[in-house]
Amino acid sequence: MAIPQSFIQELIDRTDVVEVIGRYVQLKKSGANYMGLCPFHSEKSASFSVSPSRQFFHCFGCGKSGNAIGFLMESQGMGFREAVQDLAQQAGLQVPEDDQSPQERERVQAQRQQQATLSEVLARAAQAFCAQLREAPSAIAYLKGRGVSGAIAKRYALGWAGSGWHGLASVFAEYDSPLLVQSGLVIKNEEDGRRYDRFRERVMFPIRNVKGECIAFGGRVLTDEKPKYLNSPETPVFHKGRELYGLFEARQAIREAGYVLVTEGYMDVVALAQRGFGNAVATLGTACTAEHVHKLFRFSDQVVFSFDGDGAGRRAARKALEAALPYASDTRSIKFLFLPPEHDPDSYIRTFGHDAFARQVGDALPLSRFLEQAAREGCDLGTAEGRAHMLSNARALWTPLPRGALKQQIAAQLAELGQMQMEPLISLWSMEQSTHDGRAAEPDSTAYRSWRKGNDWRGSRHAGARIATQPPLPRSKPTRRSDHALRLLLSHMAFLETLDQEDRGALAELAPPHGLLFTWLEEQWHQSGVLPWAQLAQLLRGHEAQALAERIMTGSHAQTEGDENELRAELHGLLARLHVENIEREQSALIATSSQDPLALERYRQLEERRKALKLSGDNAVTGS
Ligand SMILES: [Zn+2]
Repeated sequence: MAIPQSFIQELIDRTDVVEVIGRYVQLKKSGANYMGLCPFHSEKSASFSVSPSRQFFHCFGCGKSGNAIGFLMESQGMGFREAVQDLAQQAGLQVPEDDQSPQERERVQAQRQQQATLSEVLARAAQAFCAQLREAPSAIAYLKGRGVSGAIAKRYALGWAGSGWHGLASVFAEYDSPLLVQSGLVIKNEEDGRRYDRFRERVMFPIRNVKGECIAFGGRVLTDEKPKYLNSPETPVFHKGRELYGLFEARQAIREAGYVLVTEGYMDVVALAQRGFGNAVATLGTACTAEHVHKLFRFSDQVVFSFDGDGAGRRAARKALEAALPYASDTRSIKFLFLPPEHDPDSYIRTFGHDAFARQVGDALPLSRFLEQAAREGCDLGTAEGRAHMLSNARALWTPLPRGALKQQIAAQLAELGQMQMEPLISLWSMEQSTHDGRAAEPDSTAYRSWRKGNDWRGSRHAGARIATQPPLPRSKPTRRSDHALRLLLSHMAFLETLDQEDRGALAELAPPHGLLFTWLEEQWHQSGVLPWAQLAQLLRGHEAQALAERIMTGSHAQTEGDENELRAELHGLLARLHVENIEREQSALIATSSQDPLALERYRQLEERRKALKLSGDNAVTGS
């Protein structure tokens, strides 16, 4: 699925970075360059410069820099492929797909064509709904009654679908076209084949993707009639579990506010924007998914989820918590805001105003606290049974957290609540993981699933290492072996697929910049899939690990061409050696500091078994170093 480097070069040559950035930032000519307000940090005087000769942007305020592709990725939250596609479209180029069969290429092309056509259809409908709103006094009165100004209605392109069954027939000459059904605007009765408009007598909220294209609609009735809200169905351009209402409109405000506010409804988003919270988005009648969270973190490191104060709100919050857990790293902030019962953000801010809502945001529960609440729900902490039950709930929530200081802090907090010491608790949790082996009690808990996938071995290594009061183990020193492992991954990104949790942990924990390079590479992989080194080199520009990567890839120390199977085996041989070294270091630390501690002895024994197993598999692999 790689895009050839020659194409990327051609694309960069044919693209004018000033024109691309000019679509999003107001630029003024200043000498040989252009200047504007930086879209990446909040500022009053322009320190963001774009160089037409170098085809590069640089901000003197926050230090961000890059080319047109980098700009789209950073500022619009696009993936690499998406950014390339966007630029190619502007330049009138067709993105070649290296290893696709002609049939596959045709299929993809047909799919893109269909998506483009559907977006056009939806955009025309959106325009028509906007025009109809101007002619609909009842809808205007409704919006005014809710405090929505003309400016905000325009910003969100609100519209009105009239009461007729075939209102769209006046917009589309071919009302019978299958496109109208595919776009979700028209419903076809399966029995008699008759068609009619899906949205009637509703205020229309166009749903846009991050590029600003209309991909679906939400519609709200003026009364309390059911269903109050109606969404477009899933279509080739609209997937509820992925899209967030208002994200396109909120981008600038998110950057300015430094956080994104996630609500449950379109009216919440519009009402909040009306009163100074332009950084609000909404899920579309579904629970918050991991994909939503992933998308949100492309736009901000701080997410505040806001929920209605009722039972349904608590349940939705619980779902959001579960979706957010794997993303709760040490540099991100995730909070949960619960409004008083009977209120949603729309009614709350209309009743109490901007400042009261701002205080609610300020008082939102950090993830660590909400996780604790969720774990203790229904448990009587006055009894040993209740505390054990709470800890068992907590384990399922704690396990998916990414390794780091926050995970440790939360373990300490949970241990205290359960009246246990943290070290025994963590080793209990890790031991349960290593002894149950496939017979764990909760076969469908998230913890169980993530454990079956990779086994949080590295997590338990740390748990073990903290048995005695000793500082955490020093990070493993990068060696020629780790250089070579990274080299293999940089030149064969597809190998990332074959790494397990232990491998990932070992690579991520290499002392910087090696560990950083690996983490960065994994992120690229999640965002854009497998990329060739030439593209990675472009993307790495300005990154802390750039020099390291260039050194690794230009040195002639090792071969990265050859039989894929052999190279993969070589990589896994290197990793097995790395694990053995890590285990040996931990074992020495255990002997040195806690030789009398029974938990430490148990840990030592576990490590020894693991070491033997690794040695065996390592000896069988082709290691080459
Ligand atoms: Zn800046």
